[in-house]
Amino acid sequence: MNIRFTDNPPIDPVREGRDAQARRAAIQAADAIPVFEPAVTVDYRSAGRSLVVGSAAHALPLADRIAGVLPVTVLLLDSQDEFPLRPYPVHQARTVAVAGWLGAFEARWQAPGQAVGQGRFDLVLDLCPSRLIPSHQRPHGYYAPGDGEAARLAAGEAMLDMVGDFEKPKYFAYKERSCAHGRNGQKGCSACIEICSAQAIADDGDRIKVNPYLCAGCGACSTVCPTGAISYAFPPAALTGKRMQAALRCYREAGGEDPVFLLHDPEHGAELLAALGDAVPGRVIPLALQHTASTGIDVWFGAVAYGAAGIAILTTGNEAPQYLAALDQQMTIGQAVLDGLGYDGPHFQLLQAGAPEELAVALRHAPRGRVPSEPAVFHLANDKRNTLDYALEHLHRHAPLKPEAVTLPPGAPFGAVEVNRGACSLCMSCVGACPAGALQDGQGAPLLRFIEKNCVQCGLCASTCPENAISLAPRLSFAETRGQAVVLNESRPFHCIRCDKPFGTLQMVENMLGRLASHPAFSGHLDRLRMCGDCRVIDMMEPRDEMRVTSLKRS
Ligand code: SF4
Ligand code: SF4
Repeated sequence: MNIRFTDNPPIDPVREGRDAQARRAAIQAADAIPVFEPAVTVDYRSAGRSLVVGSAAHALPLADRIAGVLPVTVLLLDSQDEFPLRPYPVHQARTVAVAGWLGAFEARWQAPGQAVGQGRFDLVLDLCPSRLIPSHQRPHGYYAPGDGEAARLAAGEAMLDMVGDFEKPKYFAYKERSCAHGRNGQKGCSACIEICSAQAIADDGDRIKVNPYLCAGCGACSTVCPTGAISYAFPPAALTGKRMQAALRCYREAGGEDPVFLLHDPEHGAELLAALGDAVPGRVIPLALQHTASTGIDVWFGAVAYGAAGIAILTTGNEAPQYLAALDQQMTIGQAVLDGLGYDGPHFQLLQAGAPEELAVALRHAPRGRVPSEPAVFHLANDKRNTLDYALEHLHRHAPLKPEAVTLPPGAPFGAVEVNRGACSLCMSCVGACPAGALQDGQGAPLLRFIEKNCVQCGLCASTCPENAISLAPRLSFAETRGQAVVLNESRPFHCIRCDKPFGTLQMVENMLGRLASHPAFSGHLDRLRMCGDCRVIDMMEPRDEMRVTSLKRS
């Protein structure tokens, strides 16, 4: 969202002073919440075995420097010329592949006419024209400084310190049970895999798997996860919510108005804010997060329910492009909900600023959205769907408008499914595929039921349905029935023509007859499709050329 501002709203100095004072109280209150200590850590061990890859001109001088401290191996991409013998291995390589992380890199290389070489390394210095590991977020222990000589030297120096045991927090928690990635081989949601800029998340059959060594802690996976199966743990949403709630309470009590949270990272974003100093508008409350992509609509709706007039996210150009797109999309969904409820906005602002002056101008246009008449008192949960339930319930209860439903853009994690009754055979494949318990069978009766509140719009039902009878309808329902099982389709049961037992639906049998009428297995025996499984087997086993003995009832 790149907005060029042409006007400058006037500043009321009295109000500005009061807001700035209230902000000081708000920041103090947020800072008083105990710092989060990660319970689980990820450990690395590095003995300093270093791999340097690049041209002879760049790689050898740096390798000479590193070799004075660490064991080093060099792969030269260009030179066939003679060079002075080195006290460390130097190989020619035409192709090189590297994967891994600090303490666990694996490299394979090959030169024309030579066998494939391979090795394990703790550190990699990549001086190639295009990076060997292309992910936006680089693994720990991997240095790719680019063209500048100063950057190359700095990377070489940094490597010298990377020996020993290291640890970092485990940034995520994954609840396999709630994941909508797949069912029975059908693929549903892959949002986290697609967004991860560290390539730390991969398909694992019906589940996903996260490599904690590659995970860099940006949290974008949890932002886009529709179910909350993957959640951010550093800090968890509940703690961020506590800080926001405490800050807003104190801000209000100190007489501040229209508070906006400015979520920023603790490095580049914090530097920009420090450079701005008192020029940050009084109603803007900065809140540092490990990464600015780590919060989504659950936390934002919670903040608005607590009384925040807006959420601004400060990006500084260091974020992966897909994170900006995802934040923009989440803001669009969030604003659609708030607009639908009559809360005049905007409430969200995605800021891109590389210099303090740019930030100063943008912050004068910080969002000033309408808020509920009463601030919410619930606490944010670590479970995303729970928080969304609480926040939306509060926002709806105090909303200026009370729509039955708000239509949302595609990709929203709420919605209905529409079933084409003419095509649906009530085979219940979708019920088995639904990871959220949104689709239910009739417990013996031929009917399909749906609980809208549970639906995360993963699309697994639609991709599983053999009749292509299901389509998604993203929306947020506020109807009383949203938590109830409503019937999407029902049919009369079909009774076996031989034993009269109900075994399916009329529609299902008609579909089978239509499809299998010309199948050789049923040639001359089409009636078997109108029989239950048991009778079909009996009918197949019965000798056709013997007289049939039927017991006659005595009258
Ligand atoms: S449901 Fe969440 S954890 Fe599962 S694939 Fe989708 S984004 Fe990933
Ligand atoms: S009903 Fe909703 S949650 Fe269930 S499979 Fe379909 S789209 Fe996914």
